[in-house]
Amino acid sequence: MNKYKRILLKLSGEALAKDGNTIDPNTLSQVIDIIKSVLRQKIEIGIVVGGGNIFRGAKLAQAGINRVTGDHMGMLATVINALAIGDACKRANINAIVMSGFPIGGGVCDTVDHNKAKQALSAGKVVIFSAGTGSPCFTTDTGAVLRAIEIEADVVFKATKVDGVYTDDPIKNSKAIRYKILSFNEAIEKKLQIMDTTAFALCREHNLDICVFSMLKNIETLSDILNGKPSGTIISTLNNSKGV
Ligand code: UDP
Repeated sequence: MNKYKRILLKLSGEALAKDGNTIDPNTLSQVIDIIKSVLRQKIEIGIVVGGGNIFRGAKLAQAGINRVTGDHMGMLATVINALAIGDACKRANINAIVMSGFPIGGGVCDTVDHNKAKQALSAGKVVIFSAGTGSPCFTTDTGAVLRAIEIEADVVFKATKVDGVYTDDPIKNSKAIRYKILSFNEAIEKKLQIMDTTAFALCREHNLDICVFSMLKNIETLSDILNGKPSGTIISTLNNSKGV
């Protein structure tokens, strides 16, 4: 019996970029492997993808672009990434639909509709959500939590470059310890860079756990976690942190 029935996977846009490619084909294949391993376990999967490999509103604002326009550009960047993942799914014979947080039209993709998304997930399709929350001044992490609540996902899986949350940067400090469990209050107090405060606060309010895991380590990691093997860091409403 699986611990989870439906999960929401948050992929950053930057995770897709590699070796000078904005969207790296090998990384796309890796994403497909992850999706396949989840589906194999009869777990439904929704995905929220970021756009940091193309545009981020805050960075564009530094270059003089209006912040709201920059955020619109950032959200459109996430649509580009979602279309690439949707296309990779189709090529791998995985049934997938792409939805955007604002209407796009022209047959590019659907607009987010939580009922349609839940129906698609129940039918075994992968739903790829883009355009974050659909509004400027938010991040796709907050978008991921919002969509997870809408589709009634059991957990948010956040793919990062390291295999969890550490007491210090594990790349610079070999003595850094990985947290097994952290509370949202601790995550907010420690100003962890894993997700923004709005995303943490929304999860805390809706009692939705986040599992931080490494997408780079090996594709079995998520599979292991889904099978109940300890890996990564769980951020939840629990009060006390636990080191590994
Ligand atoms: N964005 C936004 N509203 C949202 C989600 C994203 O305006 O609800 C914009 C924002 O400019 C952000 C960009 O889209 O910088 C790309 O998203 P994000 O930085 O979260 O991508 P990631 O870091 O996950 O690649």
